[in-house]
Amino acid sequence: MTQMPSALTRSACLIDGEWRKAASGEEIVVTNPADGSEVGRVPSLSAAEVEEAVAAAERAFADWSKRAARDRSAILKRWFELIVAHADELGLMMTLEQGKPLAEARGEALYAASFIEWFAEEGKRVYGDVIPSPQTDKRILVLKQPIGVCAAITPWNFPAAMITRKVGPALAAGCTMIVKPAEQTPLTALALGVLAEQAGLPKGVFQVVTGDAKTVGGVLTGSDIVRKLSFTGSTEIGRILMAQSAPTIKKLSLELGGNAPFIVFDDADLDAAVEGAIASKYRNAGQTCVCTNRIYVQSGVYEAFTEKLAARVGSLSVGVGTEPNVSIGPLIDDDAIEKVEAHVADALEKGAKVLAGGKRHARGGTFYEPTVLSGVTQSMRVAREETFGPVAPVFRFDTEEEAVTMANATEFGLAAYFYTESARRVWRVAEALEYGMVGHNTGLISNEVAPFGGVKQSGLGREGSHYGIEDYLEIKYLCTAIG
Ligand code: ADP
Repeated sequence: MTQMPSALTRSACLIDGEWRKAASGEEIVVTNPADGSEVGRVPSLSAAEVEEAVAAAERAFADWSKRAARDRSAILKRWFELIVAHADELGLMMTLEQGKPLAEARGEALYAASFIEWFAEEGKRVYGDVIPSPQTDKRILVLKQPIGVCAAITPWNFPAAMITRKVGPALAAGCTMIVKPAEQTPLTALALGVLAEQAGLPKGVFQVVTGDAKTVGGVLTGSDIVRKLSFTGSTEIGRILMAQSAPTIKKLSLELGGNAPFIVFDDADLDAAVEGAIASKYRNAGQTCVCTNRIYVQSGVYEAFTEKLAARVGSLSVGVGTEPNVSIGPLIDDDAIEKVEAHVADALEKGAKVLAGGKRHARGGTFYEPTVLSGVTQSMRVAREETFGPVAPVFRFDTEEEAVTMANATEFGLAAYFYTESARRVWRVAEALEYGMVGHNTGLISNEVAPFGGVKQSGLGREGSHYGIEDYLEIKYLCTAIG
């Protein structure tokens, strides 16, 4: 059994610069989704212990927020360099607690690091404004100031990147941040804490608390010291956290569920479209919120596309993420594989056909075969719900208008993709898609310089890019009379 990299592994939380266990001694067991074996334990903190972290974050804010941006930036740059230097260990850790193949996990470590570097730089470019006054004896200025103590609740599918994408801009802006990682993947979050300490982040600026989601979430959303919550996860839990944050009027960034359409027009480069679909659909075994959930293919190329896709999917290898050349690891847990099975069963019952895969993988556990379904229609569950697994349902359409209407027929609005060689169509379709992010002739759109986020019930706010730091800044208007 491959072991966790010991220098980065902690079984205690990072609170006020100290590594602390729960006073109760209670722990959460972290398991490897590939075989169910235990890979570590983390504390299950009480509400009072989480409140101590909130108080520490408030104390730390007093100094951190007043430092020069370049001083904060220098520390963040060191943190970035340490994450890069430990990308192999962090990658292994993610493969062991999350299941994604090693190469993908190592890629996530570098992707995670990129947010720290980007915001270390952006933090130095938080400009205010001077507005021409309507009165000659007054001057009008706009200051940008850090919001204050922030909290982040993060998911298991990107154990490192979903943390740094929030912590990077928060810390660069001068905020302090408490992170509650997903119970499935807390070890990577704690490892980031080890590296943050080594980088010289002062105590209380970045803290990691683990425990029962409702208990920890209750403290973070209920506190009037916490001025902002940033959450990535399901729309269902996002709604609950939004409601819990209402009494204290917290600022919110919400990155919620998606139901990404992937549209292939008659004039598309089919080989490129197949590669784009593979990259977008099967990454992380289909467990990302921007993974393609529905593939719409125009009638003229429907058969050719589905055949090519099914043939290509047949070449994807399923296995334990630490084995060489694996492209699809296990799903995160039993609930995940049961949902995938239910979606496929529903589609088959209503007339869809299996072109590849279609069942649990012979390896057992939560391994599922990469699957392609043809003859899929809007009445099936796969059309409306996020499958979050390696299943590509392929729908047929005739006109551009029909494709856009079907693509938009969802309460979600995170990512959408389309393939066409027509320049005129690019603008028409990109503008008509009700999504926060659109990929044209590409299935991969995430990076640290671009604004990531959704519309409709996929969320609020943007992460990454120069817009990302605005989510951690307040605008203060200063009117000064000079007469
Ligand atoms: P997923 O379906 O990806 O697991 P969730 O929305 O359930 O998404 O979980 C995302 C994050 O939200 C995790 O850190 C989880 O622990 C946390 N979470 C789940 N339920 C609650 C809750 N009631 N209060 C606070 N956090 C929660």
